[in-house]
Amino acid sequence: MSQSYDLVIVGGGPGGYVAALRAAQYGWKVAVVEKREALGGTCLNEGCIPSKALLDSSEYFALARDQFAKHGILIDSPRLDLAKMMKRKDDVVTRLTRGIASLFKKQGIELVHGNGRLESVAEQMRVVVETDQGMQTLQGEKILLATGSLPVELPDLPFDGQRIGHARHALSYDQVPEQLVVVGGGYIGLELGSVWLRLGSRVTVVEQLEILLPNTDQEVAKALIKSLQKQGMVIHAGTRVASVDNTEEGLRLHLKGGEQGELTCDRLLVAAGRRPCTDGLGLEQAGVELTDGGRVKVDTDFRTSVAHVYAVGDLIDGPMLAHKAMDEAVVCVERMVGELPEVDYRLIPGVVYTMPEVAAVGASEEQLKTEGTAYQSGHFPFMASGRAKALDETDGFVKVLASPESGRLLGVHIIGPRASELIAEAASIMAFGGSVEDVALITHAHPTLSEAFKEAALAAAGRALHA
Ligand code: FAD
Ligand code: NAD
Repeated sequence: MSQSYDLVIVGGGPGGYVAALRAAQYGWKVAVVEKREALGGTCLNEGCIPSKALLDSSEYFALARDQFAKHGILIDSPRLDLAKMMKRKDDVVTRLTRGIASLFKKQGIELVHGNGRLESVAEQMRVVVETDQGMQTLQGEKILLATGSLPVELPDLPFDGQRIGHARHALSYDQVPEQLVVVGGGYIGLELGSVWLRLGSRVTVVEQLEILLPNTDQEVAKALIKSLQKQGMVIHAGTRVASVDNTEEGLRLHLKGGEQGELTCDRLLVAAGRRPCTDGLGLEQAGVELTDGGRVKVDTDFRTSVAHVYAVGDLIDGPMLAHKAMDEAVVCVERMVGELPEVDYRLIPGVVYTMPEVAAVGASEEQLKTEGTAYQSGHFPFMASGRAKALDETDGFVKVLASPESGRLLGVHIIGPRASELIAEAASIMAFGGSVEDVALITHAHPTLSEAFKEAALAAAGRALHA
């Protein structure tokens, strides 16, 4: 059976489903091929959303246990109902994935469940889908690949889904591990490590590099490490797991590098990065070129090396982030109809949802130094913020990097409460080419955490008021 569409999309994650919604707004006939049961991709099913649901739940638990008494709220020590916490997380995911399915229905987007691959017939590209009911062929004027990414598996630490697993497993442990070892001190390691630390695990992070979060401003990254260590997380930088023994009592890990010796644990989370999901897509036969890093090569229109075949999201170069995938999807479809928007890759915010949160947009101090760009910096500590004091969340600061001549913002780095929300103002001002003087002219409500950004901008201009 063969059907024709204006656009056939392979992958129903943030890249694929957002492209489908945008294309439907142009009145296109769209089909999305997705092999998972639910739409939403990694982000909704085993990434951004379930991890944030657990981060929020575990933060409430830790606050109730460790902080409530300071506010004069006296409760017996809180008990954990992990099954209920997991069920709430699953409900959040289900409500959101169903929401996308209902948007698809409303917009007349066809969802084809199955495994899709490219096939070339008489120089025409089409998508062949292996469904439960047999093979289905989808003919597309244009084809968009948005198959995302998969966790990297380390040869010495193969996933068994029991003791050794990746993020999906760590989002669903049925018991709080006594000792959790996390290989990889990146986004996933620090976020999911934090979840289980707050719920009572002893957590050790083993990171091969000497520094953590190498693309993050290192003043901020160091402040985060200090804070996580204060919370009880053990971090072995410059260290790798050389080998592992799976014994009756648990896993015995042999370390090499900066930290040597043995570690035992009942769960091992491998969070050593993600790789593009090109498996079984038929890219080689179709002639779709890859970069040296194995991602799909695209031009500024998100066109691959094969005519009428496009790609967005984790499958192509750039940070593996949901908002990057979504923006690429919109820009890709708009460029297909002849409009010329662009994704500004310098202004993609990054957030680590730890406690305190870390959020950044633009260049780090290290990047500016490497580029030889002149800058001046301004800091404002949350310790001096009335709202942070009221919240009793005074760990962290806002750091503004600006051009000494024009005052134009070059980078904003925040570690502190609700940094994930505060960064949006900095991103907006930078998108309009704004300066520290522009920030200084904007009235910020008092008392709010956002005042810290204004104060840091004033500090960069040499006239901080409150610090
Ligand atoms: P994906 O979301 O991976 O979607 C691709 C889809 O394609 C999948 O559903 C897959 O089943 C489907 N597919 C693959 N091959 C085929 C095929 N051959 N046929 C049919 N279907 C196929 N990013 C953030 O911005 N913020 C966060 O807080 C955040 N937290 C994260 C937490 C975790 C634990 C993880 C793992 C990731 C997190 N990310 C976060 C990253 C984010 O999830 C990804 O960047 C984003 O999902 C990429 O979107 P995508 O559409 O490119 O790919
Ligand atoms: P990551 O790239 O953030 O971190 C992986 C870390 O593992 C690196 O620091 C790397 O040096 C280390 N590593 C690699 N091999 C190792 C080894 N053998 N031994 C010890 N350390 C090793 O990758 P991740 O944490 O797996 O997350 C994957 C991607 O998902 C991220 O790059 C990010 O784009 C996305 N993500 C984003 C968020 C967010 O936006 N808040 C949250 C989770 C994931």
